Parts: sequence; C-alpha cells; structure tokens
Amino acid sequence: MKFGGTSVADIDRIRNVARHVKREVDAGHEVAVVVSAMAGKTNELVAWCREASAMHDAREYDTIVASGEQVTAGLLAIVLQSMDVNARSWLGWQIPLKTDSAHGAARITDIDGSDIVRRFGEGQVAVVAGFQGIAPDNRIATLGRGGSDTSAVALAAALNADRCDIYTDVDGVYTTDPRIAPKARRMNKIAFEEMLEMASLGAKVLQVRSVELAMVHKVRTFVRSSFDDPDAPGMDDFDNPPGTLICDEDEIMEQEVVTGIAYSKDEAQISLRRVADRPGVAAAIFGPLADAGVNVDMIVQNISESGQSTDMTFTVPAGDLAKAVDVLEKTRNETGFDAIQSEAGLTKVSVIGIGMRSHTGVAATAFKELAQIPVNIRAITTSEIKISILIDSDFTELAVRRLHSRYGLDKV
Ligand code: ADP
Ligand code: ASP
Ligand code: MG
Repeated sequence: MKFGGTSVADIDRIRNVARHVKREVDAGHEVAVVVSAMAGKTNELVAWCREASAMHDAREYDTIVASGEQVTAGLLAIVLQSMDVNARSWLGWQIPLKTDSAHGAARITDIDGSDIVRRFGEGQVAVVAGFQGIAPDNRIATLGRGGSDTSAVALAAALNADRCDIYTDVDGVYTTDPRIAPKARRMNKIAFEEMLEMASLGAKVLQVRSVELAMVHKVRTFVRSSFDDPDAPGMDDFDNPPGTLICDEDEIMEQEVVTGIAYSKDEAQISLRRVADRPGVAAAIFGPLADAGVNVDMIVQNISESGQSTDMTFTVPAGDLAKAVDVLEKTRNETGFDAIQSEAGLTKVSVIGIGMRSHTGVAATAFKELAQIPVNIRAITTSEIKISILIDSDFTELAVRRLHSRYGLDKV
C-alpha cells in the first residue's frame, strides 16, 4: 500500500490511512506501507535548499528533502500502534533500499526485503519512508520527484507481493487530468505501455519509473483513492478492488483507438537559426546539451534551402532554458549558427492510444480540432502510440478539453 502527500497531509488523514491499513491487516494480509511526505512538505524543503544556495551539493539536498518521508513514516507507525496494530517505521537505509549514485534522481539497484519479511512473520506491519534509499557512497539518496510510487512498486517486487495499491487523491487513472477536465472518465484498466506514455508525457498520477518497474516485474498495480471510506463495501475485494488496474494489453477487452490525453506545462523552445548543414552538426549541438544534463525533447530540423545552412528547433524543460542557451553559445564555432531564439511558456499536449498502431487519421483529427479553436501548432512529434503537439500554455486547458471531447473520451 502506498499513500501520497495529500493522503497524509495531516494527522486526521494519517488516521484515515491507518484505517485502510488496519482493514487489510484484519483481513489476514501481510502489509508493507510506503508513505510520501505531507502535501507541500517536499516543495518547502526543495525551496529551502535553493534559498540556502542556488548551487547546492546534491548529497545535502537529498539529506534535506528525504526528511519529509521520515516524519510521515514515524507518525503512521505511532497511529497504527495506537490502534493496536503492530507496526514500525523503516527508513531507506535501514531496509536497506540501495540506489545508484545519481543523487536527486537515483535509481533503485537492490532491495533486501528479508528483515521486513521476517517481521511479517511476527505479525508486524512495515511502514516505509518512500522516495529515499542509500547510495554507494553510504549517503541518503532520493529517487526524483514523485519517487514514492517507485519505492512502492520496487518494494512490492522485492517482497513478491500479490498486489501494489497506490492510494492517492483521485480514485483511479482518468482519460486525462480530472483537475482540468471535469468530463474526464475513470478507466477500469490501462495497459502498461499506455500508462508509461501517459506518465512520461505529463500525467503525474504515477512516476514513470514506477510504471517501468511494474511492467518489467509484472507487479499487479492498482491506483485507488485514499479518501474512500476505508470500510465501505468492496474495499477489501482482493482480486478486484475499486480503482484502475495497470496491466498487460491483452487483459483489456475493448481497446479504444485513443485512451488518454496528457499535457506537460513549463516547456521551452529553442531555435538555432542557420546552423551549418553538414554531417556532425546535430551531434555538436545535442552532445554538449546531454553532457550538461539537459533533457532535449521534440526536435525539428528543416530542410535546407541553400544546401549551406538550416534551422534547428527543439524543446527543453523551461527550468533548463538558461543553462541550455549557455551551453549552445559555446558550440557556436563548430555549429556556425547565426542566432539563438528561445521562448518559455509552452505546453506539450499528447494524445495516447495503442489503437493508433492500426488506425489512420488520428493525428489529422487533432490538427483539425486545434485549428478550429484556433491554436497555433509550434512543433509535432509522433511515435507508434502517441502524438505530441507543442502549443502556447495559455491554451492548455482548452486544448486538452477539446481534444478529449473530439476523441469521444468525455463521460456521458
Ligand atoms: P500523490 O501525492 O498521491 O502521489 P499526485 O499529485 O502525485 O498524488 O498524483 C495525483 C494527481 O495526478 C491527481 O490529483 C491528478 O490531478 C493528477 N493527474 C494527472 N493526470 C491524471 C490522470 N490521467 N488520471 C488521474 N490523475 C491524474
Ligand atoms: N515527497 C516526494 C515528492 O513530493 C515523493 C513523492 O511524493 O512521491 O516528490
Ligand atoms: Mg505522486
């Protein structure tokens, strides 16, 4: 069981979480519970790090931001104990949950679940601080924002759990973010591949890495609400709990062409005007950006009119824009561009569906709908099961809602 930030936002909510846990324990299950920090806590801790120094040590950042989960793990253990549930808290290093050395965005390398399993034998519930582990340098590491989802799925895999339930503030995965599209529909099931695209294209209901792990380790993962009454009928249905199951494609009977719309705000666009049109130029542009840790996303290269030079346009996260421009300036000798133009305040809207593999016209439908609003399209990328379109952020909500309706996803 994993509970996110809004689900543990105060002591009352932690009590409610404890009732969910107690229900499962009373039903005779062995339970590990992964908790996030209280809502807003991690943001506050991150802001303190930045305030202390813009160029802070990533290991110290991890020491600080991991503390939010330590508090909620201890609090939930106390509340469970007060309800006569045998429970104890576990920090990442105590398990140990080992990670690589990429502080701030570490990946889990190994989890030794044996101590937790031994305590299960004594009837004890494990309350685990999410988001954190221990790196090879013997220091605390965090898994990137939203990383408690990944802690939970990885722990479920390590413990060979029957199920991993991700409890959050919505009652499942929706066709799009229900916060901006009131007509979004909850799905009973979604395929791993689609959930992976949804998550990586902005639907932050699950961290991308958690979906990858669930897919690779075949963890039966449900997304469900912590705000439901813990003792309502059906809550303890073992095979079919309320919520959305993330599963293999072939477990889904009726596959729609488009299953969801995702968006990601805070994108920035960079255009290099008149870069030299010869072999090696793309490598000279994107190599240094990769070395600087800048994640380049959509790339558009124009056909050169003269055969001498061409324009190169691509997107980066808005937070990396200044760094990217700085890096690019230094490549000027090699790439020979005339000018850099950049703009922040953009959004990438994506249409996702496995059915696209076998249907034509899906992209054209999106372009027509956006034209009717009208919204100008700045860049497009596609893959087998998704189309992504870059637009001005001002149009985000409108574009998402219109595409959602256009593809027949609105609830009736
Ligand atoms: P937690 O703190 O429990 O980890 P998050 O805020 O990380 O919760 O994720 C839940 C939020 O994800 C929801 O409140 C919702 O606004 C957002 N979200 C975005 N896209 C979707 C989607 N397709 N389905 C459900 N929720 C979504
Ligand atoms: N508390 C961490 C964050 O806000 C991890 C998580 O909630 O999943 O990113
Ligand atoms: Mg989350």
